[in-house]
Amino acid sequence: MLFNKFQNKYIIKGTLYALTPLHIGSGQENFDPVLADNTVIRDHKGIPYIPGSSLKGTIRSYIERILYSGVYKGLNSCLIVNEPCVSDDDIKKIKKEIKDKNLNDKKEAEEIYSKLCSVCKLFGSNYFASKIHIRDANLKSGEKVYIDMRDGVAIDRDTGTENNKYDFECVSSGSKFDFYMTVDNIEDELLEILKLIISILKNGDFRIGGKTSAGLGSIQLQEVKIYKITMDNLKTYLEKGLEALEEMEWENV
Ligand SMILES: [Zn+2]
Repeated sequence: MLFNKFQNKYIIKGTLYALTPLHIGSGQENFDPVLADNTVIRDHKGIPYIPGSSLKGTIRSYIERILYSGVYKGLNSCLIVNEPCVSDDDIKKIKKEIKDKNLNDKKEAEEIYSKLCSVCKLFGSNYFASKIHIRDANLKSGEKVYIDMRDGVAIDRDTGTENNKYDFECVSSGSKFDFYMTVDNIEDELLEILKLIISILKNGDFRIGGKTSAGLGSIQLQEVKIYKITMDNLKTYLEKGLEALEEMEWENV
């Protein structure tokens, strides 16, 4: 089955280009000018970057919304926070059934996996590791990055009026970051989601970080290179690296 043996690996790399300024702070989930830290997140050298976890989380929510709508036949999504596809109670039930039937752990894992929605199968759940990994997107080597200060206005929650002008930092548009994503042992039925991820990133509609409703955070994946590693070229990849492999057209993923 799927769980241990090497089957395939996709590597997608490219350049993330900031079409508009980006604000990715540590408090990006609740952009509250009073509570949040209004600086952008930086690496140990003080250079802004885009955390892989932010990219993955934002991509997942985007895909969840699309698949939850039912527009892709054969692919489904739960709402992981409010309506998970497999609840703790479901797990208890499955574990009991497996025990009653005297089946092994592998059967149990297969049974749980089969109940997961397409998005949890790919992005992981409480019970299965993610097949997708995205590295922190660091500034492209040789590129400069500029930080702009922007004015924001806080709305008073009680009176609904504007008060508290504040400043927040943005990474300027035109900044370029390295994108590197891997997908391990993906089943054919989920490839449509991988295509969707690449096309969403390529089309420039994708937004990340804070203040996206104000137009910030548009990024576009450019200079995309896609590699597929199978048993046929695994040795070449291990011995000679990615450059020795042939690129794939994304339409053929
Ligand atoms: Zn799910």
